[in-house]
Amino acid sequence: MSEEDTKRQPRRVGIMGGTFDPIHHGHLVAASEAASLFGLDQVVFVPAGKPYQKDDSEVSPAEHRYQMTVIATVSNPRFVVSRAEIDRTGPTYTIDTLRDFRDHYGRDTELFFITGADALGNILSWNSADELFQLAHFVGCNRPGHRLDDAGLPPGRVSLVEVPALAISSTECRERVRKGEPIWYLVPEGIVHYINKTGLYRH
Ligand code: ATP
Ligand code: MG
Repeated sequence: MSEEDTKRQPRRVGIMGGTFDPIHHGHLVAASEAASLFGLDQVVFVPAGKPYQKDDSEVSPAEHRYQMTVIATVSNPRFVVSRAEIDRTGPTYTIDTLRDFRDHYGRDTELFFITGADALGNILSWNSADELFQLAHFVGCNRPGHRLDDAGLPPGRVSLVEVPALAISSTECRERVRKGEPIWYLVPEGIVHYINKTGLYRH
């Protein structure tokens, strides 16, 4: 990498991991608030390949989830989408993604891993939990129905932040589509159209 390229590297990068099946406004608000509160130059959305905590048959094809994430983030110049996890074979582990990002951006870039309260509560059960906190600063966002708590997490490596509470989940969006109920305003308009066009979640 030339010196010019190094200068252009964003210095504070957020990482928003998720299944995004489908992406909804809860994800987007959490990412936007974290970007504003921590002065992030960029937030990279990383759709999971095969989330190891979720049953294969329950998760939509990665390419659909990737496309929806691109559509939902296109209007925000700071939001980008990474194929890192969907192009990796085998189960998805966040530790592999953080190592990739650390290698890609180098030591001078600070990484901020953004999660909702439910995911934050599970982190200690993730692969290589100790190393996760060395590679990134964790930003835990409140989420309706979940307690936002950093008990047991390493001090100084986690920030708890208050974001506008949106009681939206992908599970509920999928259920609504299956039952023929509207998902307007829970997800971006383009996602409503994408789901209608592809027939996702109807069965
Ligand atoms: P599912 O119901 O399929 O698990 P989900 O709505 O939980 O979907 P995920 O893709 O599992 O969405 O979540 C990705 C990340 O976004 C997680 O860190 C999760 O905690 C966070 N998140 C999801 N929805 C919200 C929300 N409404 N408010 C704040 N954070 C959220
Ligand atoms: Mg979830």
